[in-house]
Amino acid sequence: MRGVGPAIAEALSRLLLYRLSDFWFHLPLRYEDRTRITAIRDLRNGECAQIEAVVDAVERGFRFRPLLRVVVSDASRATLTLRFFHFSKSQAEGFLPGLRLRIYGEVREGAAGLEIVHPRYQRVQPDTPLEVALTPVYPATEGIGQTTLVRLAKLALAALPDDAELDVLPEALRCSVHLPSLGTALRTVHAPPGEADITALMARTHPAQRRLAFDELLAHQIGMRKLRRHLRALPAPTIRHDQARRRSFLAALPFALTDAQQRVLGEIDQDLAIGKPMLRLVQGDVGSGKTVVAALAALAAADAGVQTAVMAPTELLAEQHLRNFERWCAPFGLRVVWLAGKVTGKARAKALAEIAAGAEIVIGTHALMQEGVVFANLGLAIIDEQHRFGVHQRLALRNKGRDGARTPHQLVMTATPIPRTLAMAAYADLDVSVIDELPPGRTPVQTVAVSDARRDEIVERIRIACAEGRQAYWVCPLIEESEQIEAKAAQATYEDLQRALPALRIGLLHGRMKPRDKHAVMDAFKAGEIRLLVATTVIEVGVDVPNASLMVIDNAERLGLAQLHQLRGRVGRGAAASSCVLVWQPPLSALARERLAVMRETNDGFRIAEKDLALRGPGEVVGTRQTGEMNFRVADLVRDAEVMPKVALAADWLLEHDLHAADALVVRWIGQAVEYAQA
Ligand code: ADP
Ligand code: MG
Repeated sequence: MRGVGPAIAEALSRLLLYRLSDFWFHLPLRYEDRTRITAIRDLRNGECAQIEAVVDAVERGFRFRPLLRVVVSDASRATLTLRFFHFSKSQAEGFLPGLRLRIYGEVREGAAGLEIVHPRYQRVQPDTPLEVALTPVYPATEGIGQTTLVRLAKLALAALPDDAELDVLPEALRCSVHLPSLGTALRTVHAPPGEADITALMARTHPAQRRLAFDELLAHQIGMRKLRRHLRALPAPTIRHDQARRRSFLAALPFALTDAQQRVLGEIDQDLAIGKPMLRLVQGDVGSGKTVVAALAALAAADAGVQTAVMAPTELLAEQHLRNFERWCAPFGLRVVWLAGKVTGKARAKALAEIAAGAEIVIGTHALMQEGVVFANLGLAIIDEQHRFGVHQRLALRNKGRDGARTPHQLVMTATPIPRTLAMAAYADLDVSVIDELPPGRTPVQTVAVSDARRDEIVERIRIACAEGRQAYWVCPLIEESEQIEAKAAQATYEDLQRALPALRIGLLHGRMKPRDKHAVMDAFKAGEIRLLVATTVIEVGVDVPNASLMVIDNAERLGLAQLHQLRGRVGRGAAASSCVLVWQPPLSALARERLAVMRETNDGFRIAEKDLALRGPGEVVGTRQTGEMNFRVADLVRDAEVMPKVALAADWLLEHDLHAADALVVRWIGQAVEYAQA
């Protein structure tokens, strides 16, 4: 390409732009409307606008840091200040009074009237024509500016072949989804005509963007299905459980499996017995009893002489599994090994040796995937709370067990019920089982929402509940995106509550405590010595203390529905009637109000998930946590959910009738990152 020297090429490579065609799919983050000019007098705080004005005065100064202020005015006789904190000498000297500029940026109400901080600007003549298309703003990196990116994108776009060559989707398929051709879509997103629907473009719901999202989702869908086909063709250990051992395992449990648990276990048994790798997702609402099903699968694996790895997203949860599996499986002579990131030195060496020597069950966190962890004979990989992990992590654990000859079975479990459309995209490579029944004797959790102003009443409620022999949680969720700050908030609440409830034994649990201290607190809470546990969201997943029947969630207005549901799921596990108090800080946004209402209305995880999807408009942060680490360039699983059924059909059709097009799509959208294709 013209004008691309080594330095620019180097910067481009950081954006993964190597070939002309890479630019076609390097899509704008947003747009600037420079097709018109706004009079300074008509500017409004917060809006992005283009102004044409003349430099009146320039002031350079230094207050803690260099400062450049340029005052400009236009025909509307109003003035505007341009502010710069980073600038070069020549740049500052370039602002000569009388100079005519076209300026673009976000207008703010500053101390001295309207201003724009670090505007984009260019010198113009009174007759310099305006842009006819919206100006794209591309993802950039150091060493390359927007101007260059826009210029190169234009060059690349000029070389766009016609649709016969470019668009791999067969005509019939494209027509059936009512979307523009790929060429039209790309030209529209890179250079939207001035009359284009900018609101739709900004919201990424324009048909051109929908077409690109469709292709991207389709490419992922095809990639995942190919991965699945590929895996299914590999040999895996044949696992048939020993009937007598299963019977005595079940007889030792203090409960009988629910019908749903039995059904799902049956599905797993079938998968394990056919000598092909199982790829199964078990969905079940919080408290539905997934762990015991997993343990039964592990016992079956041991019967067949292969190892099981159990991976959980937090140490607390992994730890809890360790205890359950030990309790349930040790009587059968199974060795259960613990491996977490904090297991180091001699303990780690010992654990690694046991794993290599064939210990039947290995339980831990991400540490299981690290290099140096070598299994003797991994036959079953169980991943709990799958939504916390990505596809890639799942693959990494499975790869641990590949000795060339056999591939381990995979059982992934999630308590985050995800709407069907999302599941299609996120788990296209998995079979799904649902535990759609809670163990008997559970009473639904009563939920109320109260303002923070009524804290005293809540404290009183805890005092009464604990006096009656119940136990309670008080959760202090993320105040800011930092574990440290979260821990501090929990600490402060803990101290407050200790003062308010001096007679009560209160515990504190957060992510920054030493593992030993965490265990001590958890044990004391389980044993009922600690009556009230003040915790951060570390307790969100999996923690299971049936006697706890009151849950207080602070700052509930800040949490999403999925997280609220998870947290609430910590109570309602025993026979006692449980309650959940959602404490909110005013002011309450409309959306937050709606979320709290949903929580009050229902305990059903699937209904909550559907509501969640409906409530999250485009622009709201999307729970990547729900979908693992799927990073899409254009698509958004929530915003584009409605096309998923069509994507799934199209993937079927292409894999059946047009493998060439299917492959071309995968290469185009997933490119080198094709662990999918070759996994
Ligand atoms: P989750 O599906 O959320 O992981 P768990 O596996 O932690 O749920 O189970 C929640 C609680 O229910 C545990 O205390 C577990 O021992 C208990 N449990 C599991 N299955 C049954 C059952 N069939 N009857 C009664 N209690 C059960
Ligand atoms: Mg669980």
